[in-house]
Amino acid sequence: MNKYMKIAVEEAFTGMRKGDGGPFGAVIVKDGEIIAQAHNEVIKTNDPTMHAEINAIRQATKKLGRFDLSDCEIYSSCEPCPMCFAAIHWAKMKSLYFGASREDAADIGFDDQYIYDVINKTADHEQVHTRIIDCDHCNEPFKEWKQKEDKTQY
Ligand SMILES: [Zn+2]
Repeated sequence: MNKYMKIAVEEAFTGMRKGDGGPFGAVIVKDGEIIAQAHNEVIKTNDPTMHAEINAIRQATKKLGRFDLSDCEIYSSCEPCPMCFAAIHWAKMKSLYFGASREDAADIGFDDQYIYDVINKTADHEQVHTRIIDCDHCNEPFKEWKQKEDKTQY
C-alpha cells in the first residue's frame, strides 16, 4: 500500500473514532515529505467545509506561508467532493490520488451526486434558490481590480 495513502486512511479512522466527523482523511506531500495530514472535522468544528482535504490544505498553506501548493501532491482516502476538488485546483496542486470512490461514499450516506447534478444543470430540483441581481453594481470592484497595479494575481 502507498505509505501516504496508508496515513490518510489512518486519519479517516482516527477522525471517525474521535467523533470529529465522517470517515475521511487526507495527506499533503512535498518532495516526499508529509507537510499536512488531516481528517474530516465537520462535527467537531460545526464547520460544514471542514472536510479532510480542506483541513489539510489549510494546514499546508499555513505551514508553507503561501497559497500556491503547485509543488505538492494530495492523497485523499476518498474521491474528493466538488468543493474539495475545486480547492485542490485553486491550490494549483498537480497530483491527486484517491482510493474510495464517490459511489462508495454514497453507500454510507455521503452522497454528493446532487451537487454534481446542480452544477451540470441536470438536477430535478434545486435546494438553493439562486438569482442574479445588481450585476452592474457588483462588477464595480472588478473594474477597480483590473486597474489595480499592486495586486497579487493568483
Ligand atoms: Zn470535500
